[in-house]
Amino acid sequence: MADSPLRRRTAPARWEGVTLAPYKDAGSAPFRDITRQLLFDEADLGCELRYFEIAPGGHSTLERHQHRHAVLVLRGRGRCLVGDRIHEIAEHDLVSIDPQTWHQFRADDQPLGFLCLVNRERDRPHLPDEAELAALRADPAIAAFIRTAGETG
Ligand code: MN
Repeated sequence: MADSPLRRRTAPARWEGVTLAPYKDAGSAPFRDITRQLLFDEADLGCELRYFEIAPGGHSTLERHQHRHAVLVLRGRGRCLVGDRIHEIAEHDLVSIDPQTWHQFRADDQPLGFLCLVNRERDRPHLPDEAELAALRADPAIAAFIRTAGETG
């Protein structure tokens, strides 16, 4: 019997047969309170659609890489650093992250859930070294925003 083409929502931001996974392997990069669900991963499509959810106070990894991200906020609100600017984001906002652009997402007082479209074949993220962190922190707003360990706040 063929698989059904439909995977129904089973709870807010959960879907039939979709595993709730860690955001990344523990210890591979700094992040906090974030989950990942792989929604679409079709070889001939060449891309993956993932859903990430960051719990209140949590954050994604501060990173950059050659592959692009196309992000659609589905739930909640928060802020993101993209390049040298911090943006407030809320449900249904779209965020484009260009190649080699520093980015980090943070949830505020409620979960921040978003779809993220990426190439199936993609380079590994680059984390900032000390010199790159110092350059980012030259901007006080960015210094206050970024999180580089599993810290809260
Ligand atoms: Mn990224």
